[in-house]
Amino acid sequence: MNVYFDNNATTRVAPEVVEAMMPFFGELYGNPSSMHAFGGNVAKYVDKAREQVAAFLNASPEEIIFTSCATESDNTALRGGIEYLGEKSALITTAVEHPAILQSAHKVGEMGHEVVKLGVDHKGQINLEELKAQLKANNEKGVKSLVSIMWANNETGVIFPMEQIADICKEYGAVLHTDAVQVAGKIKVDVKKVPVDMLSMSGHKFHAPKGIGILYLRKGSFFRPFMLGGHQERGLRAGTENVPYIVGLAKACEIANYDETGIGAMRDKLQAGIMAALPDSIINGDTEHRLPGTLNISFPYVEGEAIAYHLSDAGICISTGSACASGSLDPSHVIRAMGVPFIAVHGSVRFSLSRYNTMEEVDYVLEKLPPIIKNLRALSPFGPDKGVTTYE
Ligand code: PLP
Repeated sequence: MNVYFDNNATTRVAPEVVEAMMPFFGELYGNPSSMHAFGGNVAKYVDKAREQVAAFLNASPEEIIFTSCATESDNTALRGGIEYLGEKSALITTAVEHPAILQSAHKVGEMGHEVVKLGVDHKGQINLEELKAQLKANNEKGVKSLVSIMWANNETGVIFPMEQIADICKEYGAVLHTDAVQVAGKIKVDVKKVPVDMLSMSGHKFHAPKGIGILYLRKGSFFRPFMLGGHQERGLRAGTENVPYIVGLAKACEIANYDETGIGAMRDKLQAGIMAALPDSIINGDTEHRLPGTLNISFPYVEGEAIAYHLSDAGICISTGSACASGSLDPSHVIRAMGVPFIAVHGSVRFSLSRYNTMEEVDYVLEKLPPIIKNLRALSPFGPDKGVTTYE
């Protein structure tokens, strides 16, 4: 059996999405910016896609900018946003963001702006009082604030209280960007209810292809464009529109079903089964405010890479730490920021489910995983049976 439980890394493209895209690789290949009717006809499909994406977010079509990926959306929001706010501006973000934000924040720091990263507690939650204190301090210094806080964490699935964050940012006159990549298609995003100024999403996290992203820009908010060139996207993002992918992304928005119950039930069964078989496992993250399909769990005294390797041998795909940081054996910055005991940090793995998974797959994982952990424990030099329960 092959089981794909790595949906926070990327998802399968929905068949309906593939079907919607096909004509744009064939007869509908015109450039939407062309003057002729052949290109103009294709532009109509881009307009329709923009309307569908806007409806998905309860936004207006002119607030939607198509990008090449969420990394581009995040870079544009942070660097373009801070440039627009001017010299006397500072960035407030968190220590648990995706590298697309953390590296952009580093760049913003190099550009001469103060950058503050809010820490998280052991559940992976931020402290809103700290956010208020930073915003107040900036206002007192006459410094404008750009805040970038992810809606949900890619590694733990922890959901941040975005509605309250938006209210606080409004109260202190700050511009708010959110990396909403992991909530797309999982929980309803309504930019009227949760009034963020900018928001990033990525197609491949909710059954559209890789290489297409969205940047939502609230009417009246601004940034300095990052991609310079033609007049596409009303001059805010140059580059010929990736029409097939834009149409595919819009289709993914149309069929997103927010099936929290189905996916949540599979994740809960997986979690309960693991805890019953391996009771000293540690669930990472705030289980009350968590994406329905994500389970991040630490198996003390063993290496996450070894677990992933043996599961892969059994046909099961999962991640250790951040998928985007795989290739590096550094422990996850998110799990470390939460203060998970060192002996368990290295043994943290992430299971992430989608609507294409089944209960039978959960059963299969529950059959294969416990013996793998037990075998690795037997080989480990650490563990209560060896009298070594810490690295210090
Ligand atoms: N932000 C978050 C929270 C993510 O999980 C990812 C991808 O893993 C990204 C940004 C980057 O998205 P993309 O692959 O579209 O650049």
